[in-house]
Amino acid sequence: MVLKAFLPVFIFSISGFSKTIVMIDPGHGGEDEGAAQNGVKEKDLTLKVSLELKKLLQKDPKFEVLLTRDRDQFVALADRPVKAAKAKADVFVSIHANSSTVSSAKGTEIYFENQIPTDEDSLLIANRENNMKDEGQTKTASNKNSDLTNILTDLAHNEHMVLSEQLSQHLLESFQKEFNIKTRAIRQAPFRVLSVNIPATLIELGFITNPTEAKWLAEAASQKKMAKAIYNGLKAFKEKLDKVHSSTVK
Ligand SMILES: [Zn+2]
Repeated sequence: MVLKAFLPVFIFSISGFSKTIVMIDPGHGGEDEGAAQNGVKEKDLTLKVSLELKKLLQKDPKFEVLLTRDRDQFVALADRPVKAAKAKADVFVSIHANSSTVSSAKGTEIYFENQIPTDEDSLLIANRENNMKDEGQTKTASNKNSDLTNILTDLAHNEHMVLSEQLSQHLLESFQKEFNIKTRAIRQAPFRVLSVNIPATLIELGFITNPTEAKWLAEAASQKKMAKAIYNGLKAFKEKLDKVHSSTVK
C-alpha cells in the first residue's frame, strides 16, 4: 500500500508521447530447453508465442518491439534484463511455460517480482526458473554504493514494482477475457530475470505437464490467442499510463 505513494514519479518517466519500447523475453533457448513433456518443449513454445506477439506489436505504431532472442539460441538469464536496460526498454515481458509433478495442475499464471514470495508454490516456480542453465557470473550488488544511491535504488525498485503489479493485472484481465477461465492468478516471486527497473512481468502460459493443456499450448491457433491476450494487456496498460500522464502534465 505504501508503495503507491511513489507511483506518479515513475509514470512521468516511462510514458509520455513517445513509443513504448517492449522487450519480449522468450524463456530458455538453445541448450536450455526449459520444461519438456507431452511433446512440448518450453523453449519452442515461448519463442513461437513471442514471435506472434512481436507481429502484433510491430503493427501498432504506439509500440516498438525487441526480443532477447528471436531464434533457438542460448541467452544467459543474467543477460536478459541487461538487454532490456541497454535498449532502454519501457516494459519487460518474460514468457515461460509451467510444469508440475501434479499432472492435473493447469492454467496461466502471471508473476511480478517481489523479493519475498507470498506462498511456497511461487517460490518453487521462481527457484526453477532462476536455476536455468546460466553462466553463473551474476552479481549486481556493489558494495561501494553510497547510502543515497541505495535509497534511490530502493525507491526506483518500489516504483517499478507498483507498475509491474498493474501491468500483471492488465494481462490477467486480458487473458481472462480471451480464454474465460484458464488464467489462475497473479503471484509475486523473486524471479531473477525480472530484476529490471522497469515494469516487468513473467507469464507462465500453462502447464506442459498437463496432457490436455500441453495439447492446447502446442496448437498454433492457441498460441496466436495467447499472443493477442498479451498484446491487449500491454495496450490497456499503456493507455492507462498515457491517461494518467496527460492529466498530470498540465
Ligand atoms: Zn521457464
